[in-house]
Amino acid sequence: MNRLDKANENPMRRSFKLTATVALMAGVAMTLYACGGNSEPDNQCAQLTDNGAVVVGSGLPGDPSAPELSSGFKPKALVSARSYMVVTANPHASKAGCEVLKKGGSAADAAVAVQMVLGLVEPQSSGLGGGAFMLHYDAKTKKVQAYDGRETAPAAATEDYLRHISATNTAPPLPVLTAPESGASFNLLRQSGRSVGTPGAVRMLELAQKDYGSLPWKDLFQSGVQLATDGFPISGRMADAIAGSRTLLTTDPEAAAYFLNADGSAKALGTIIKNPAYAASLTSLSASGANALYTGPIAENIVKKIKMTSGGSTSFPITPGLTELSDLANYQAKRRDPVCTTYRSYWVCGMGAPSSGGMTVASALGVLENFDLGVYKPTALDANGGKPTVLGVHLVSEAERMAYADRNKYMADTDFVPLPGGSTAALLDKKYLKSRAGLISLGRSMGTATAGTFNTTPLGSSDAEGKGTTHMTIVDKQGNVVVMTTTIESGMGSFRMTNGFLLNNQLTDFSVLPSDSTGIIANRVQANKRPRSSMAPTLVFKLASDGSVGDFVMGTGSPGGATIIQYVTKTLVGVLDWGMDAQQATSMVDFGAANSATTNVGGENPNVNATTPVGGIAGGSDPLVSGLRALGHTVSVAAQISGISTIVKAQRNGSTVLEGGADPRREGIVLGDTFKP
Ligand code: GLU
Repeated sequence: MNRLDKANENPMRRSFKLTATVALMAGVAMTLYACGGNSEPDNQCAQLTDNGAVVVGSGLPGDPSAPELSSGFKPKALVSARSYMVVTANPHASKAGCEVLKKGGSAADAAVAVQMVLGLVEPQSSGLGGGAFMLHYDAKTKKVQAYDGRETAPAAATEDYLRHISATNTAPPLPVLTAPESGASFNLLRQSGRSVGTPGAVRMLELAQKDYGSLPWKDLFQSGVQLATDGFPISGRMADAIAGSRTLLTTDPEAAAYFLNADGSAKALGTIIKNPAYAASLTSLSASGANALYTGPIAENIVKKIKMTSGGSTSFPITPGLTELSDLANYQAKRRDPVCTTYRSYWVCGMGAPSSGGMTVASALGVLENFDLGVYKPTALDANGGKPTVLGVHLVSEAERMAYADRNKYMADTDFVPLPGGSTAALLDKKYLKSRAGLISLGRSMGTATAGTFNTTPLGSSDAEGKGTTHMTIVDKQGNVVVMTTTIESGMGSFRMTNGFLLNNQLTDFSVLPSDSTGIIANRVQANKRPRSSMAPTLVFKLASDGSVGDFVMGTGSPGGATIIQYVTKTLVGVLDWGMDAQQATSMVDFGAANSATTNVGGENPNVNATTPVGGIAGGSDPLVSGLRALGHTVSVAAQISGISTIVKAQRNGSTVLEGGADPRREGIVLGDTFKP
């Protein structure tokens, strides 16, 4: 074959031949492409490996769903597709979304299918018992719509809901646990009923799918039902999550029976686990819509679990939550305006209140815009994002410190507490952010930033938040895009389970204290209020010459609690300022800072030397770390646990392609109508 023939060879056909060989070697009948729907086998929704295309769940060599020990960082390669793509944190979920896209479903349809599978295969992170935020881009009308499926506090909640058992008993909510090593007692709020908010993810998906779905709602549950019925092998991350929460999962007999063996040990990696209760929940949802969860028997079970008064093998007392059936029946997902700001030659759109994510990312970018960040790009660029420079990390971290300072003070559910000036305009004002940029020194870290001054009632500050969650990014054949971050808050949520899914502990994202010495806290608990989030599903578009929103450029997002803001910002800077592809920016060292002297430099990335030299401190031999220390940063090289899912629309050889990156720190994969460039 000469070079020209090779260039003209159909890449689909080439990898089919290779796959056939692999399949025959493995003694597997050629039914691999059952979802192809025509006689020409293809790569759609299969993962391309060096040995050809492999279908998720096939059990063939290279099957990305084969359970593996979860490792800190497993380098991943950029994936390219022609017209549709899905990136999620789990291979089964990516496959479910991809199958929907392949048969012409919309991005909103695929998001439903993905969530239904994630709630099963990654139950520690998101599910029917949790909440979510979504941004949707409609390619035809060029409209960006934000959706708010955040959990709410019950109508009976007061500002002391998380800190006092009742108005007359000011002890903290039970249980109070004893640490086995130290014998010290502590209060585990997330294990009490007070942590559980009224779930919102399912109502939100229903709303978005009504607006932008193209397939019937009832057809989006098959993958979830089938996997729950037939069973699936427990993945590395799920196994770790079970083992890590083993004792706490005994809070609830239903959770213990599902996640633990009869002898109380954690179900191990690779164990085939079936969830018929979850399959039944999905079947009800597919038949009756979200009402199946918000009214009737499932709603009754949710309320019963929130009102549990004792738990564990010793039946220790637990403070119940005050959620009633009416809280579920009255729950509403909301359409919200996205927070869109320009950044250099782009529009960046994020999620507004009750999430602080979009505003805080926009605030950091607005500060960074005042610097020529391009000159500080990483060196030795490789698939893992190269080696960040000292000044690149310094500038981004300083900008984030100031953005977090404003976040901690001013941002909360705006249906209850207005932003300074009544909208995002004041906090994101270009002149204001320029003045903030002027506070950055290139020679010294500011350590902790002070919030900007606005004409508001005196406000305190809060930064509470846990870490669970997962993110999906989806582009359909029509060019519509979904970015959705979805969560039950901390890993395994509130450890209580009903109808095959875990209930969230999202209310711990509220400030436990209603005020501090400076004033009331914007993010205090109030009846029916939504706790402040950091979730930051983000869409980027070109800035058109008339100043309007131009073509879609990228979609991204991540789990990680309050650190989400850092993960998303570094990914945006990676693509927009440093010219990285979707995988490089996703993989790049997770660096940044909340509003403290500590700057994170994720030591799990192979481009960081996180070892401790003799007589030194962790990371002491790494020039990036020592350079930052010389500028006064307290550097943490602790492993970061982002779960970034990125899609970039790129130009290659005159044609438009989709490029996807899945986070090497998690189990996710990119699928679509892929090809090997
Ligand atoms: N509960 C957090 C939030 O809403 C997310 C937790 C996480 O990302 O792990 O921002």
